[in-house]
Amino acid sequence: AGTHNYAEALQKAIYFYETQRSGKLTANNRVEWRGDSGLRDGADVGVDLTGGWHDAGDHVKFGLPMAYSATMLAWSVVEYRNGYENAGQLEEIKENIKWATDYFMKAHTKPNELWGQVGSGHVDHAWWGPAEVMQMNRPSFKIDASCPGSDLAGETAAALAAASIVFADDEPEYSAKLLRHAKELYSFADTYRGKYSDCITDAQSFYNSWSGYYDELAWGGAWLYLATNDSAYLSKAIAATDQWSSGGSSNWPYTWTQGWDNKNYGAQILLARITSSLNMPEATRFIQSTERNLDYWSVGTNGHRVTYTPGGLAWLDQWGSLRYASSASFIAFVYSDWVNDPVKKARYQDFAVSQMNYILGDNPRQGSYVVGYGQNAPEHPHHRTAHGSWVNSESTPSSHRHILYGALVGGPNASDQYTDDIGDYVSNEVATDYNAGFTGALAKMNLLFGQGHQPLANFPAPEVKGDEFFVEAAIKASGSNYTEIRAMLNNRSAWPARMGDQLSFKYFLDLSEVYAAGRTVSDVNVTASYAEGATISQPVVVDASQHIYAITADFSGTKIYPGGEGHYRKEIQFRITAPQGAWNPNNDHSFQNLGTGNVAKSTNLPVYDAGVRVYGQEP
Ligand code: BGC
Ligand code: CA
Repeated sequence: AGTHNYAEALQKAIYFYETQRSGKLTANNRVEWRGDSGLRDGADVGVDLTGGWHDAGDHVKFGLPMAYSATMLAWSVVEYRNGYENAGQLEEIKENIKWATDYFMKAHTKPNELWGQVGSGHVDHAWWGPAEVMQMNRPSFKIDASCPGSDLAGETAAALAAASIVFADDEPEYSAKLLRHAKELYSFADTYRGKYSDCITDAQSFYNSWSGYYDELAWGGAWLYLATNDSAYLSKAIAATDQWSSGGSSNWPYTWTQGWDNKNYGAQILLARITSSLNMPEATRFIQSTERNLDYWSVGTNGHRVTYTPGGLAWLDQWGSLRYASSASFIAFVYSDWVNDPVKKARYQDFAVSQMNYILGDNPRQGSYVVGYGQNAPEHPHHRTAHGSWVNSESTPSSHRHILYGALVGGPNASDQYTDDIGDYVSNEVATDYNAGFTGALAKMNLLFGQGHQPLANFPAPEVKGDEFFVEAAIKASGSNYTEIRAMLNNRSAWPARMGDQLSFKYFLDLSEVYAAGRTVSDVNVTASYAEGATISQPVVVDASQHIYAITADFSGTKIYPGGEGHYRKEIQFRITAPQGAWNPNNDHSFQNLGTGNVAKSTNLPVYDAGVRVYGQEP
């Protein structure tokens, strides 16, 4: 176990949340390949819904997993603040929690109104490109008193209440504001009962509320109790647990773990601790149910145990196997820290440690499952913006243009087998909910084994950038008094991807031979024979004494962006005509290296963005 740098792993796991930021980025953004995105989110309903996190390898803002992830991160700071501090990551985790909680408060526009999704799942998923240049409509969806969602409102209340505890000492005003929203949202969740996915039906194919809302009412109530000490919240939380099953607490679910849908597992630990400290009789059922679940994951409950891979991974489900193992690990750590029985204490801690080390590289593949961390790490996660395609394709380019540091991928199958395949979103996607329990468990790993571990200095290292803008050109035709050029202006920007609607390029001429023949620039004429949203200029003087002139192909007003065929490059064909006997293209700067076949990249046709040169050489 000592071979892993847990401080570095934690640093990177937190950084992943920065790669997921939507909205207007702030100065503390460390991701050089991310820019502003979704700046019109909410404009369809007249509300500012910018901000928040892209859910996974896509760009939808799904409220339920976003709120769940924020709650888990805040919970982990409540438990393991020192773990973050020791690894030098306390400010980083707080900033990343804030990115989500700021958004939830914006999205909570009235006491009983919460915007719970921006972007449509199927529409978003149909396009494979970087967030900064997405063009699809991003509709906004809400819950309110007439169509409520106790799960979504309850989870968002949990996130804000947990965060209010995180910020209570350092930023009391911010904390109080979080708590105000948390109270209103909990009351909304409690008063108007319903499943959010019955209202935000777009979420049904992605984050349907399978488990219903009694888990969130318990979980949210427990967090509000912890944030306020008001026993009314505790009563509501306990009352909600009565609805977890019709057969009483011995029938409560125990064969799953804490996740974006089910919060029973988190709620029952909180309630076990709270009711025990208050000497309440309910404590027994919460303790028993927690142990039933943790035994299922470790030694087995009545002979039933979660599937184990030969390599030692507790494997619950194919889709995102590792997020379950790491979530279960976080729960196991929290309970192990609290339970007194030394056998149980060791059992649950050992379980969690073994799972975390499996994920970081102690597995049959001898490979990390965290992008950009450790040996043999995934390089092809299912993530649009990190991949950086300009052609709307998972297969181009063949390697990702950016390193999605810290992202936990879905994970192996039940035989420890895993393929690092960009197209496999079941085992190789990443998600804000995957990293949530994982990050928290890493904070505990730092407390246990992080002695002497340091996060990386100057992280992240700058990436080696490829060409973002350039012209590909060829000679289309030529004769004794003319030259015709075919040129494609490319925008394959990725640091970050950006819209090009003020792009132009120049074609430089040396008209010495024209002047030698007694003619002038006014005898030279340029016409476009084909243009995809561009105009072509006549030659404009650059250096009169050397007879150097430039023609500008101006694509202003035409959107050229890395968003697919027909978008990432636009073409122009133009012909330069001179009087007979006064034309020779061979001395022209931009004519150098051009072939007559396919267009090819040439540095001699420089590119400009809003008049500023971004590629190539002038003469
Ligand atoms: C998307 C993934 C998503 C999956 C299932 C794919 O098309 O790229 O982000 O998880 O669909 O909805
Ligand atoms: Ca639920």
